[in-house]
Amino acid sequence: MKKTVLHTTILLAFVLPMLSFAFVGDKNKKLGDDKKRKREDTTQTINTSAIAYDDVDSLLMFPSHDLYGTWDTASCHPDLFEQQFVGDSATIYLTDDWNCGFTMPYKGILTSEFGWRHRRPHYGTDISLHTGDTVVAAFDGKVRIARFMGGYGNVVIIRHNNGLETVYAHLSKILVQPEEAVVSGMQIGLGGNTGHSYGSHLHFEVRYLGKAIDTEDLVDYQKNELKNNSFVIYKSDFGAKYDLRSIHAHQVGTKSHAAPALTYKTPAGKVVIVKNGDTLDRIAKRNHTTIAAICKKNGISQKKVLRLGQKLKV
Ligand SMILES: [Zn+2]
Repeated sequence: MKKTVLHTTILLAFVLPMLSFAFVGDKNKKLGDDKKRKREDTTQTINTSAIAYDDVDSLLMFPSHDLYGTWDTASCHPDLFEQQFVGDSATIYLTDDWNCGFTMPYKGILTSEFGWRHRRPHYGTDISLHTGDTVVAAFDGKVRIARFMGGYGNVVIIRHNNGLETVYAHLSKILVQPEEAVVSGMQIGLGGNTGHSYGSHLHFEVRYLGKAIDTEDLVDYQKNELKNNSFVIYKSDFGAKYDLRSIHAHQVGTKSHAAPALTYKTPAGKVVIVKNGDTLDRIAKRNHTTIAAICKKNGISQKKVLRLGQKLKV
């Protein structure tokens, strides 16, 4: 253990130019030790045997190094789940004494949920914003990806000390760089409409070992806070409620072809904001409902002219 500490100290002194940066690395290492201890109490065990000794020293600088074992800056979601998820469940400590807790990335209205949408899986939660609004990091961690990536548009992906990764997509501007250390609440970008997006919004994802989790299992979007300080992830959930493709295939296979297989989950009392180019028809389709249902809920006529920024129950 002393040898590891010595190696890490030497490495930090030579490789990292700033003292503050070195502090973060050291902090992560302490946290890593603590997480190992916590995981021994649960069903997770850590396997770093496949990594060379020197590589382990390098990885100590990265959040959740013991869980991920790699730091991949090329692929947005490295497929590490089968290899690294040991046991039936893992406990994620969302807040602890060493980190700054949780901050809502953007306090806006939830406009689209995790689920099957427009014949595609939607692995995140959409939050309405205006282009240029500030988007912040949910938890402490380190930026793994910060660039333009296809449908995500300008995207920031952060790996956190708690084992999760968060994704912030469709940004108009990225304000962090890969490998930059961030704390919860720190500005990472400006909201926008880049990539596969119709109207400014933040597409927010939470992932564990590359696999998406429904953010609403962790975050209360009414209160803009965490539902709990810890979260237990069950391996079986990834083959059931989080595996949107298999859910959809199951629905299509078991229902008649006339039945729309788009309603994965429809909450009561959801409110959307009318955006540029919106019509009742578009809002209805986007929220898996009908024009008639929206008009009834809002007491408006089907010929009603919508105002920009108007709130509608769906
Ligand atoms: Zn989205």
